Amino acid sequence: MLRWLRGQPLSIEDAPWQHACETLPWVRGLTPAQQLTLRALAARFLHQKTITPLGDLTLDEAARVQLAALCCLPLLEFGIGGLRGWSQLIIYPEAFRVQRSHVDAAGVLHEWEDELAGEAWDSGPLILSWADVQADIADPASGFCVAVHEMAHKLDALNGQADGSPPLPGAWQRAWTRDFQQHYDALCARVDAGKRTRIDDYAAESPEEFFAVVSEYHFSAPQVLREAMPEVAEHLTKLYGAPPTLF
Ligand SMILES: [Zn+2]
Repeated sequence: MLRWLRGQPLSIEDAPWQHACETLPWVRGLTPAQQLTLRALAARFLHQKTITPLGDLTLDEAARVQLAALCCLPLLEFGIGGLRGWSQLIIYPEAFRVQRSHVDAAGVLHEWEDELAGEAWDSGPLILSWADVQADIADPASGFCVAVHEMAHKLDALNGQADGSPPLPGAWQRAWTRDFQQHYDALCARVDAGKRTRIDDYAAESPEEFFAVVSEYHFSAPQVLREAMPEVAEHLTKLYGAPPTLF
């Protein structure tokens, strides 16, 4: 009764947690202390968020724990505050189509369809494609991790505007903005010149996408990021903790 009054203890059973550690390369590659922190964060995630599979997709307890662990990877240093402001995780079986529209400077309406592996709505749901999550797991050092990408958008939106930066203390914020802007501009210049880039050129879409894409590299190809953008890698190590050792 007392326990009920105080609320259910937030914990994850050993079996699904062990499964997550064994099947998720980024979790397997964390230090034991980081794994312990991640387990507590994932328990809180499962308590706070409703996970809804769509279509004929079903998700058992082990799959839900996997998703919670993946989404909490970017919160190892940031902490529980990174879960603020939204409550729904929606899982499509495959990549999903969305309608886009844009009115250009001449007032002409453009409409098109995008196929997405994930999406994060401002104060709304976080959406992932289960097939793309599985593809990331199968190739963990590829530079792709859609769950981390979308969670970076959620961190970005915490200070009310998606601008390519999570909320940070003042001095760090200024250094972050300076270094991110410099590397973003350099990447855009290379893309505009038709040159090859080491970081996926989707990062040149906007400062928000830049932050989300380099966050994927922090977890799945940290060496590439460190070589291509050492100052950005440094900021992300401070924000996310040391990247996992992938083996
Ligand atoms: Zn994005």
